[in-house]
Amino acid sequence: MTNPSYVRVIIDRAIHRELDYAVPEGLMNRVGVGSRVRVPFREKSALATVVAVTEQSEAKGIRLIEAVVGEAPILSEQLLELGRWICAYYCCPIETVMRSLLPQVIRRAEVGWKKQLFVQPGRKIDNNELEKLRKRAPRQVELLETILRLEAPTRASQLLRQTSLDNQTLRALVKRGLVELREDAVIRDPHANEQFIATSNLILNQEQTHALKEITHALDSPEKSRRILLHGVTGSGKTEIYLQAIRAALDRGRTAIVLVPEISLTPQTVERFKGRFADVQDAVAVLHSHLSEGERHDEWHKIHSGRARIVIGARSAVFAPLKNLGLIIVDEEHETTYKQEESPRYHARDVAIVRAKIEKCVAVLGSATPSLESYHNAAIGKYQLVTLTQRIDEKQMPLMRVVDLRQERRKEKSATILSEKLRAAIADRLEKREQTILFLNRRGFSTSLLCSNCGEARNCPNCSVALTFHRHPAVAGRLSCHLCGHTAAVPKKCPACGKDALIYAGFGTERVESTVSQIFPKAVVRRMDADSMTRKEAYRETLRDFRTGRIDILVGTQMIAKGLHFPNVTLVGIINADLALHLPDFRAGERTFQLLTQVAGRAGRGETSGEVFVQTYTPFSPSIQFARHHDFSGYFQQELEFRERCDFPPFKHAVLITVRSAHEGRAKLSAETLQRRLKEALPQEFILGDATPAPLEKLQGQFRFHILVRGEAIIRLSRLVRETVDKLPFPEDVIVTIDVDPYQLL
Ligand SMILES: [Zn+2]
Ligand SMILES: [Zn+2]
Repeated sequence: MTNPSYVRVIIDRAIHRELDYAVPEGLMNRVGVGSRVRVPFREKSALATVVAVTEQSEAKGIRLIEAVVGEAPILSEQLLELGRWICAYYCCPIETVMRSLLPQVIRRAEVGWKKQLFVQPGRKIDNNELEKLRKRAPRQVELLETILRLEAPTRASQLLRQTSLDNQTLRALVKRGLVELREDAVIRDPHANEQFIATSNLILNQEQTHALKEITHALDSPEKSRRILLHGVTGSGKTEIYLQAIRAALDRGRTAIVLVPEISLTPQTVERFKGRFADVQDAVAVLHSHLSEGERHDEWHKIHSGRARIVIGARSAVFAPLKNLGLIIVDEEHETTYKQEESPRYHARDVAIVRAKIEKCVAVLGSATPSLESYHNAAIGKYQLVTLTQRIDEKQMPLMRVVDLRQERRKEKSATILSEKLRAAIADRLEKREQTILFLNRRGFSTSLLCSNCGEARNCPNCSVALTFHRHPAVAGRLSCHLCGHTAAVPKKCPACGKDALIYAGFGTERVESTVSQIFPKAVVRRMDADSMTRKEAYRETLRDFRTGRIDILVGTQMIAKGLHFPNVTLVGIINADLALHLPDFRAGERTFQLLTQVAGRAGRGETSGEVFVQTYTPFSPSIQFARHHDFSGYFQQELEFRERCDFPPFKHAVLITVRSAHEGRAKLSAETLQRRLKEALPQEFILGDATPAPLEKLQGQFRFHILVRGEAIIRLSRLVRETVDKLPFPEDVIVTIDVDPYQLL
């Protein structure tokens, strides 16, 4: 008798352990690393993923696996290795990582292919029999003759619709054996009804040619993984380089992943990729959060089976199960939406770098405003830096003008929405039939309702933020909280002092829209933010209307800041550049610089050069001044000095621990106890902060405390933090989360 084989599995439940099971002889040749299996667990059975196959097991009372689910192993050894790295680096249980590696719809056995009945001819029929049948059942013969003329099996439902015959007639033919029905899968393709026009390579300029050469050169040395940071100014034609680099990877028999921020995954982007690879259209799979479960299932299997060779998607597409991966592109690599804000709290760009290393493929990070982390990695030689300094077709960078709102305020005595200069510039564009984008990173009409008598603001009862007033019909003149969704009616009098002295203060995009419409009554003004884009098609329609010139002025939040390309936009107004600058976050300056550069990049992409007005109360802040002069390296140098002086990333890694509870005292006590234990557990080399109330002290009814730890040896730090947290018996209503390399510090 041969040695019975064992498998080590991770069960789809939070038990923080891997378990061994024995494999019955009949299943032995169907199980491999990455297989999905059903196993007995406690009194029930559970689904699990095989992570190792062994000859022996030390475990006692070992049980047999019950069944193998599906056919081939669905997780490659490389992806499993990636999962283990995420688990160690981001300090999270392996089963939560498995949830990211295998989407819900793939893990669950019951969601499968969409099956439909197909019709094809059955046994032969001679003329004699046919004529007899024609007399008795003419409709059956009519249907049969149609089926005999079919060139390929056809969907039963479609056939019946075309012939206006009923199911009963079809069943009768099946019963006679003249027709056969077969069940088969149909693909749910989210882009099935769209036509993509094939495009060919554009001619590259000298800088682009050089960049492409560097990438193909890296593809040609597959024995080692190469990392390239592509730093190209807005409008320098990075996407064209991506497209040609992907073609080069395909030509070498390899596959490619393109990550884009969810917000940039517009129809415009998808069209560009589907169009370029129209000759192999089925080869492009798209993964994003708006897919239905069925579509997600089918796209995933299209990738897993090897039919799709290019995957475009948001964050989670970094786990796409492509084989023979040659190239991973991370576009707009500085975007913080690559960071997942729930466990596992991974950063897709960093995961992409590690996956590229495991799969021995090329990683390309692209951005007009690289993150400090990536640019630093290039500066110290970890990444190869490739720079594009020119816009394509020799277009000029837009002219940036800074408007000092402090002076405007002296003139107007109230907060300025549109300065005189910006107003004049808009009027000028309207006259010339050119388009304007106005950007404000804040939704709503008024951002707070204050009492002018006692100074009390209307705050959310669940969160420590002011309620925003919306005029938009969807919320119909109510106050609402942008963090938890709580809404309230506008009170007639101040609930605190009883006086009729309530005033609206601060403004958001709704107010900008209405002010602009008042000043320019003849202009067509449209707003694009999370409130106005609730319908699925609204986004696409607004973009189309803007592109075709039916909208003169587009007002919006970051939704309009990224990657959009409108040749007729010659003016961009940044209504308030200070909003991000004063957040208690060490990246505030970096984000402001990036945002200004990105928004400004929307201007002057056509024949006429662009102009940008930056309205600010702090005109001399470095982020604004460097952005104004398009001086990335100047900005980078001074910001890097600040980070080094203060022991912040990229010089030290940070780990942010949040302790929260609905009970303030218990949250505070738990945070302080944890901080003391960390002090005992962590060696001197790590910098441990105090337990302090989070900047956002209360969120969704929970009181929050922060502990920030910094250090260089991040995997060691992660492990020590995890061990210390696991050892402490926290009260049941206290929740502790650990965020490695955090981006959300509020
Ligand atoms: Zn009051
Ligand atoms: Zn709230």
